[in-house]
Amino acid sequence: LLQLSVPLNFIGFVYREIRQGLTDIEEMFDLLEVKPEVTDAPGARDLAIGNGAISFKDVHFAYDAARPILKGISFEVPAGKTVAVVGPSGAGKSTLSRLLYRFYDVQNGTITIDGQDLRTVTQKSLRKVIGMVPQDTVLFNDTIAYNIRYGRPAASEDEVTTAAEIAQIGDFIRHLPEGFETKVGERGLKLSGGEKQRVAIARTILKAPPVLILDEATSALDTTTEREIQAALDVVSKNRTTLVIAHRLSTVIGADEIIVLKSGEIAERGTHAALLEQNGLYASMWNRQREATQAEEHLKQVRESD
Ligand code: ATP
Repeated sequence: LLQLSVPLNFIGFVYREIRQGLTDIEEMFDLLEVKPEVTDAPGARDLAIGNGAISFKDVHFAYDAARPILKGISFEVPAGKTVAVVGPSGAGKSTLSRLLYRFYDVQNGTITIDGQDLRTVTQKSLRKVIGMVPQDTVLFNDTIAYNIRYGRPAASEDEVTTAAEIAQIGDFIRHLPEGFETKVGERGLKLSGGEKQRVAIARTILKAPPVLILDEATSALDTTTEREIQAALDVVSKNRTTLVIAHRLSTVIGADEIIVLKSGEIAERGTHAALLEQNGLYASMWNRQREATQAEEHLKQVRESD
């Protein structure tokens, strides 16, 4: 069995290596003859999706038995609400998103969507209701329209254009030499991290899933890009159950609850205001990041006035 060291990167690798046209992850695994980590249980049913309420109950997980990563995590994302997970690098934040997408199964505890244990439903039906905006989107070597339409292949040209507008990337696309017909990806026009993320957001807008996972890129974005991406994310996550793996302040401030993860345990939880008042780990992370942003803004002003 080939261990998938970092599933999201692995899928990126597969995306890059294979030709376009594959419709789901199972097909990619087939292609590489790699055994996926999880398979459907005998008699698994399709997930009956309601409003998309998520619940993690006493979740334990380790990639290697010798090194526990999540040590009893419990939280809920009520239907239509947004929960943001923050915490130091390596705390296990992205692991939560991988478990929700069921790249792996929990070793103890349960994860449910609308009361149904993820281990009892088919992966196909699970992944149909979840929209995932990953840390690093890898685009198909095809037109930008194809890449957006992938979210819902039957979407009309108008719907693709509208999704791009909402994702704050319409303007950028119209200025490309061939507009929506411009080829992108490894063998086409290379887009920046922020541009790729907005393509992924446009794709997710078309898919219109009841549940959304946003795994933010760690890489720093300039303030304008960050603002644009935030505006796009606000639109997609509105009235959708959203789990945000957050690296940026702008995404967490408005969250209904913020979970502060440290070494696989919940260290603090609450709203932005409540956590600031607590003056603990979150408050110190927030102050540090704010200082960094201010320093960056100041530098930019100095450069612009030269
Ligand atoms: P960051 O903010 O840096 O993205 P994170 O909190 O999202 O960090 P995770 O990606 O969840 O952290 O990783 C938690 C721990 O699990 C890390 O120590 C990482 O090295 C380890 N880990 C992640 N993926 C694997 C894997 N496939 N196999 C073994 N260990 C892994």
